[in-house]
Amino acid sequence: MDTEIKINQHFIGGEWVDAEGGATFEDINPLDDSLYAYAARGTGGDMRRAIAAAKSAFPEFRESTPTERERMLLRIAELMEDRQRDLVDCLIDEIGSPVQKALFEFNKGLTMVRAAAGICRNVRGETIPSDRPGTFSMSVREPLGVVAVITPFNVPLIKTTRLVTNALAVGNTVVHLPSEMAPHLSLIFAEITAAAGVPAGAYNVVTGMGADIGDELTGSRDVDFVTFTGSTVVGQHINEICAKNKTPNTLELGGKSPTIVLADTDLAKTMPLAARSVFMFAGQACIASSRFYVERPIYDEFVKRFSMIVGKLGMGDLRDPSTVIAPVISPRQRARIKSHIADAVAKGATVVAGGEWEGNRCQPTLLTGVSENMTVCRTETFGPVTSIYPIDSYEEGLEKANDSEYGLSSAIFTNDIDKAFHFARNTGAGMCHINGPTIHDEAHIPFGGNGESGVGREGTDADMEAMTKLKWVTVQL
Ligand code: NAD
Repeated sequence: MDTEIKINQHFIGGEWVDAEGGATFEDINPLDDSLYAYAARGTGGDMRRAIAAAKSAFPEFRESTPTERERMLLRIAELMEDRQRDLVDCLIDEIGSPVQKALFEFNKGLTMVRAAAGICRNVRGETIPSDRPGTFSMSVREPLGVVAVITPFNVPLIKTTRLVTNALAVGNTVVHLPSEMAPHLSLIFAEITAAAGVPAGAYNVVTGMGADIGDELTGSRDVDFVTFTGSTVVGQHINEICAKNKTPNTLELGGKSPTIVLADTDLAKTMPLAARSVFMFAGQACIASSRFYVERPIYDEFVKRFSMIVGKLGMGDLRDPSTVIAPVISPRQRARIKSHIADAVAKGATVVAGGEWEGNRCQPTLLTGVSENMTVCRTETFGPVTSIYPIDSYEEGLEKANDSEYGLSSAIFTNDIDKAFHFARNTGAGMCHINGPTIHDEAHIPFGGNGESGVGREGTDADMEAMTKLKWVTVQL
């Protein structure tokens, strides 16, 4: 690891620049709260500069050919491979990723970029029959202009690669506000994009406190699309701002994803997948399964086996490939997790595994006896905590799974194909996995949720549609 403390700048208009007034903030390593780097503390003025740079780069960038954009994006992927070490180290030391999660994220990020390159030749309209004789009628798909990309701390490389490169693939320019917990990662990505030939101004990164400068970005009349991933409360705020300006947007927000386990499932196969559904990156995943509904005949056995598995999840050195449990990102998040567990225990829940802390890491925690009056029952914890509830039938499981304001991912484990497909059709979630964990994402799938989990979908096809506009063109022959 590089021990020199970095002092980062914004990346605006192809140049590295300090924040207006020179302010910085501390970028903290969550493992031990040590200083990882300093980042430029952006102002409204910095944000306006970045938006202006993206706006002025747009007319030329939109004229770039599919070949040019495809080459740039594929070059980004190559350079990411050259910089794998830097990116993986950053994921470990800036946000506390265990190396296995960092490598998973790096490889997923590569697929995001390569899949985006595939969009460039597929930005298509269609010919349309016309009632007017002698008229040739068609739809043409055009880029929108400046896209605001706002990303969370937990999967910063997956979200940055997917959303930035999908936006560039269709000819938009980008202003990126990364999480204040993960500014450095985006700046490595900015270096890579510049080296790959992305023109000055086409990709800009402004770091800082989202609460201070986010509105300057999402409320700007010069921003043509907003894609936000983060908490539901901030997403709601952004939705209201976008509504005022009629700025189209996608919002990928929080979750309380359910998993139903029916009595006919093979527990030997199910248990490792159940553990993966929750504890990857210590439950700091929007699609983590925080509610398990288990049919009563196997309930006790499920709880017993789950407790045994989670007790063995590695909590060692983050660079040890067997380590699974990550530190929790911030004092605020640690306090939130502690309060959810304490509230549940005070109101009668049982901690059947975990519940204790080792430094900034919370042991993987299983709760039983959770009831409606406990915060953990309905609210996103965003930590290594899940609740296990007994159910008397599949129908009860379906009803309880759908009894949530959220609707992101969902899963069912069963060998009954009728019940499995019934669940797929009737889950209120935007994503459903049969005999697989709720944590699953690929570059080209429609990723997203309903209700408090968000609006719209991400992925190559979904972003291609969301980040372009159709124009109707006729030719009178
Ligand atoms: P967060 O909402 O605190 O921050 C997300 C981003 O929003 C950051 O970049 C932050 O700087 C920015 N921000 C804050 N205030 C803003 C404002 N007023 N205007 C514009 N931007 C603003 O979320 P987080 O703690 O980084 O991430 C955790 C949350 O993200 C969880 O709720 C999780 O479920 C969700 N998440 C969702 C998905 C998904 O795809 N649905 C994926 C990952 C994380």
